[in-house]
Amino acid sequence: MSDHAQRVAIVTGAARGIGAAVARRLAADGLAVAVIDLKEGDCGATVDAITAAGGRAFAAGADVSDSAEVAAAVDAVAAELGPPVVLVNNAGVLRDNLLFKMTDDDWDTVLGVHLRGSFLMSRAAQKHMVAQKFGRIINLSSSSALGNRGQANYSAAKAGLQGFTKTLAIELGQFGVTANAIAPGFIVTDMTAATAARVGMKFEDFQQAAATRIPVRRVGRPDDIAHVASFLASEGAGFVSGQVVYVAGGPLC
Ligand code: NAP
Repeated sequence: MSDHAQRVAIVTGAARGIGAAVARRLAADGLAVAVIDLKEGDCGATVDAITAAGGRAFAAGADVSDSAEVAAAVDAVAAELGPPVVLVNNAGVLRDNLLFKMTDDDWDTVLGVHLRGSFLMSRAAQKHMVAQKFGRIINLSSSSALGNRGQANYSAAKAGLQGFTKTLAIELGQFGVTANAIAPGFIVTDMTAATAARVGMKFEDFQQAAATRIPVRRVGRPDDIAHVASFLASEGAGFVSGQVVYVAGGPLC
């Protein structure tokens, strides 16, 4: 594929964890990838992995909940790599607490990064997708969208993302743009490591306990999510839109 024809993807929160795996996978699929995270300097490992494998990558620092930073980052990506036509809204934070202890800041931070962040990024990127008559928006929801103790803020944001995704699918479909959500179950990353620490368990024990509750009897890895993102971003997935794909080693109800 020539540089001219190469599609451009943005992955937020791609310095580590699921975002880094998705960024590497999309690059391996032939896309140029903009790696966005809070600090540009933290994106180096992902960018280096992509370029070392022969791909094209660009790092940008932005807080996805900040409108001006989002606009500047998307403009920089368009100038540096070309118009972004794939967007993976992956950046995320946890501020877990039982409802009676949850602070205003716990609520606002989580809703701000996951829900407002996905809104701001999607609004900034969609104009490029509409102009190209092709787009793929992939939002990271979670099995916690179905409810999870200690996560009133996070489950509200992740459930909200599902409605947001379906609405984008309805509004943007006529322009060749699809929108889908991936809802992971337990994936081994710094985020689940932090949850283990919060409940006072060794991460290995935490993973083993989780695996016993998962039908395929293992916990997930970032590449399990990257594989699904690769499909949803592909040309061939153009008739799949407004869907929530649970990637959790079994069904959830
Ligand atoms: P992670 O390892 O904690 O990585 C999240 C990344 O997002 C970090 O690099 C973080 O940067 C970045 N980030 C946080 N706030 C940001 C902001 N305002 N602007 C830009 N970047 C920001 O998390 P993960 O486990 O890979 O999770 C990725 C996504 O999958 C999240 O949306 C998460 O909710 C979702 N998910 C994860 C799981 C799981 O089991 N791991 C399950 C379901 C859903 P810093 O390092 O600077 O904070």
